[in-house]
Amino acid sequence: MNINDELYKVGLALHGHKCPAMPLGLRAGLAAMEVLGVQHAPDGQLTALVEIDRNHCSTCFADGIQVATGCTFGKGNIRSLGYGKFALTLIDNKTSRSVRVVVTHEAMRRSQESEFIKFRKQGTPASQIDSALVEPLIDQVLAEKTEVLFTVEPVKEIKLTPIAPHAFDTIFCAECGEVTVERYARVKHGKIVCIPCAEKI
Ligand SMILES: [Zn+2]
Ligand SMILES: [Zn+2]
Repeated sequence: MNINDELYKVGLALHGHKCPAMPLGLRAGLAAMEVLGVQHAPDGQLTALVEIDRNHCSTCFADGIQVATGCTFGKGNIRSLGYGKFALTLIDNKTSRSVRVVVTHEAMRRSQESEFIKFRKQGTPASQIDSALVEPLIDQVLAEKTEVLFTVEPVKEIKLTPIAPHAFDTIFCAECGEVTVERYARVKHGKIVCIPCAEKI
């Protein structure tokens, strides 16, 4: 895989800047899909559990996972477990087969010791760092052997709690007038309102 690959281009368009963590997420998603023998999910066929949290290094990892697997924030089939770790568990919802893919020490070390990360640590936004510093890292991540980037754990069964079916019914909040999915409506002084209006005193 290289930067001319359509998947990388889509990832970059979604993500917005060049960094090594988004491509690492692409590779993690692809590695997990290959093990499970599944394709990019057009609907909710797959679930991705990512172990990152917020406001720490390499959270860009999750955007690559979304692009590669089709598990997206919008479809609701990606979840952050908030451990501050760099691993993906991909689940085939039909068969309950899952695989956990963990970024190796080596792959993290390459990123952490790079000039690119020195600038990031100093607070420079990724988009303002010289491309010449990041492009070799991206090339390396895209071309690297899977086993250098990830430890792939044995396939195991994970039974997720079934999620509620998609709700399509909506109401108009009696206070602010905004459209609200019915399941989230609340009753306040006998009126049907949205959550923010219900919480206002
Ligand atoms: Zn990034
Ligand atoms: Zn309201």
